[in-house]
Amino acid sequence: MAVRWIMHVDMDAFYASVEQRDNPALKGRPVIVGGLSDRGVVATASYEARKFGIHSAMSMRQARRLCPNGVFLPVRMSHYRRISHQIRLILSHYSPFIEPLALDEAFLDISGMELHYSHVTDIAKAAKKDIYKTTGLIASAGIGPNKFLAKLASDLRKPDGLVWIPYGTEQAMLAPLSVSRLWGVGNVTEQALRRAGFKTIGDIASAGPDALRPVVGNQAGRIYDLSLGKDKRPLEISRRPQSVGNEHTYDHDLLTPAEAEEQLRILANEVSWRLRQNHLMGRTITLKVRFASFQTITRSLTWEGVGTCAEEQLYFAARRLYQKRGRNEPIRLLGLTVSQLQRYQVQGDLFSDDDDTKAKVTEAIDTLQKRFGRNALMKGFLWELSHEKEK
Ligand SMILES: [Mg+2]
Repeated sequence: MAVRWIMHVDMDAFYASVEQRDNPALKGRPVIVGGLSDRGVVATASYEARKFGIHSAMSMRQARRLCPNGVFLPVRMSHYRRISHQIRLILSHYSPFIEPLALDEAFLDISGMELHYSHVTDIAKAAKKDIYKTTGLIASAGIGPNKFLAKLASDLRKPDGLVWIPYGTEQAMLAPLSVSRLWGVGNVTEQALRRAGFKTIGDIASAGPDALRPVVGNQAGRIYDLSLGKDKRPLEISRRPQSVGNEHTYDHDLLTPAEAEEQLRILANEVSWRLRQNHLMGRTITLKVRFASFQTITRSLTWEGVGTCAEEQLYFAARRLYQKRGRNEPIRLLGLTVSQLQRYQVQGDLFSDDDDTKAKVTEAIDTLQKRFGRNALMKGFLWELSHEKEK
C-alpha cells in the first residue's frame, strides 16, 4: 500500500509580495495591503512590516500608528486572483488532487508521486522553484502524513520554508509546540486548555482524551488524536464555493436610502460578476446590514427554480431586502451573499426571460473587464441600469 503524503503550499505574505514584485522600489520596505480607510483592516503585511508588530486582521488605524512610514496599498483582488490561478495551474502539474484553501494556499495529495523523485521533499523543492520562476513569488511548503501536519509544517519555517515531517517523528515534533498550533483550536479553546494546565501539545498527548473532556467537551477525541499527529480528513477535491458574496465597510456611514441603494447596485454588480466567473447561480440571496450602532441584521429570500446570477435580479432582490431592514439608522456596512449555488453549463440558462442580447452584452463586459480591469466598464454599465429603471 502506498504511503500517504500530503503537501501544503502557502505563499509568503502573498498580497504584499505581489505588490513588491510589481514595484521593485517597494522591496525591503514595510508594505501593508488592506482597507485604507481608518475603519479598514490589514489584509497582508510584508515581513518588513511584521517587524513593527503589524499582522493581518489588525485595524488599519493601529497599523499606521505602529509604522507611520510604511507603504499602505489597497487590495487589488482581481489581480491576486489571476496570480492565484497561475499558481494553481503550476501545482496541478504535481498532483491532480488539489484542495485550494484560499487564494494563496492549497493542499496536494502527492501520495505515490515520490516514486518519480529521489526524495519526497524534492516535489516541494521543484514546486517552489516552478512557482518562483513563473511568478517571481516565494512559497513555503510542508509535507507530512496528513493535512494537519502538512499545514503545520509549511508554517514552521516561513518565509521560504520547506519542512518535512516523516512518519514516526510526529509526536516528538509536536510535543513542545503550543496547543494553539492544533487545527481548530482557536483563542477560546486555547485559553480554556491553558487554564486547565494544557500548555503544550505534549501535555495533551500524555493526558489522554478523558482528561480533556471536562475542558473541551466532545472535541476531546479529535484534539487528542491531533496531539498524536493523527488526522484522517480527506482532501476536498471538488470543493465548490458554498456561497459567493461581497461586503463593504464604508468610510462614512450611509445616511439616506438613495446612498444605500447606490451601494447595493455596486454590490450586485460585483457579486454577479464573481458568480459568472465561476459559472454559478444561486437561489438564496442574503443582505447583511450593520448599523452605525454596530447592531447587525440579515434578511434573505429564496427563489423557486434554478436561481440567478443576473445583476438586475440581484439588485432588485437586495433592494427589497433592504426595505425590510426595520429601522432607519445610518449604515456602516452592507453585504450581499448568494448561496444554494449550482453550476450552469449553457449560456441560454442564464436569463429566464431568454434575452439573448443581454446575455451577449454580459459576456462582452466580462471579457473586457478581464482584459482591462474591473472598473473599465462598471460605471457605464451601472448608469445604463439606472437609466433602464427610469423608463
Ligand atoms: Mg500565505
